[in-house]
Amino acid sequence: MEPALKETNARQIEPGQVSSSRQSTPLKMATSSFTKKSIGTETAEPAVTPPATTETATFAKKPKLPSTKSKKREIPEGLWTKCPKCSTMVFDKELDENLKVCTQCQYHFPISARIRINSLLEAGTFEEMDANMTSVDVLNFTGAASYVSKLEKYQQSTGLKEAVITGIGKLSDHRAAIGAMDFSFLGGSMGSVVGEKLTRLIEKATANALPIILISTSGGARMYEGMFSLMQMAKTCGALAYHSRARLPYISVLTDPTMAGVMASYASIGDLILAEPGAMIGFAGPRVIKDTTQAELPPGFQTAEFLLDHGLIDAIIPRKEMKSRLTEYLNYLTAGRN
Ligand SMILES: [Zn+2]
Repeated sequence: MEPALKETNARQIEPGQVSSSRQSTPLKMATSSFTKKSIGTETAEPAVTPPATTETATFAKKPKLPSTKSKKREIPEGLWTKCPKCSTMVFDKELDENLKVCTQCQYHFPISARIRINSLLEAGTFEEMDANMTSVDVLNFTGAASYVSKLEKYQQSTGLKEAVITGIGKLSDHRAAIGAMDFSFLGGSMGSVVGEKLTRLIEKATANALPIILISTSGGARMYEGMFSLMQMAKTCGALAYHSRARLPYISVLTDPTMAGVMASYASIGDLILAEPGAMIGFAGPRVIKDTTQAELPPGFQTAEFLLDHGLIDAIIPRKEMKSRLTEYLNYLTAGRN
């Protein structure tokens, strides 16, 4: 018992109370409780042994958390994000590196249209189209807030002019027309400008014999524009019909959520329809359907997985594999053309 104990005593501890209390306890207990006590009582005197690295490691974690409650609140905002599915606190940097997919449960966080495009196209190849096209309040819509004020608010908060970014770029070896919607701009809703930008993109793809990839996330048609937004459903589908007639491929990628007028138009008529895991996809929301049909909805209703089982979509692809899988599909669908 004695030799080991005495050595550690001599190194780390000033005599006095701590060492005497330890002598009364058995050896194994003593060493474990001893380190804890010495950390607590001995802050002023690191004595002889200076295990600098281990000390800072234990200290850095412990005092920060309980010290001030306000600090606790600040940390999650800037550095950590709580996963809404598994409640894990994920380090933001890790989340960004993982394309905003939870490292624990693979929950797919929403991502902006810009990040989406950057994640798919080769750097520096994207030529944006109609970047400055903005919506007009044709109906002089006023509700709780006017349409104009909403547009201004979202233009400021997102840095976008509208809810979709369109352009031509290179995905691996393929030049392709690509459009990505952004849910953070008015719920990714499709108004006249979203419809017009998509239609111009599709028409350019047809004229230049390019494949189209549209990544959707949307609450549906933009009701601030009434009939003008609903018209976009027919307009985009009409343009896609010409593209299809030219025997060019169109891949639709559905992300969480893709609903209503967008799902009921261009998003659901791809030659290939892909989806991200767990994406909510449908026309009316589940509550509306339940109230209308007065029937119990099956579990998993309107998720990508459910719709894959029922044949509406062709494949579910995790975000990190999206680029390589799209490349494979384009290789296949454009084979012989080049
Ligand atoms: Zn998670």
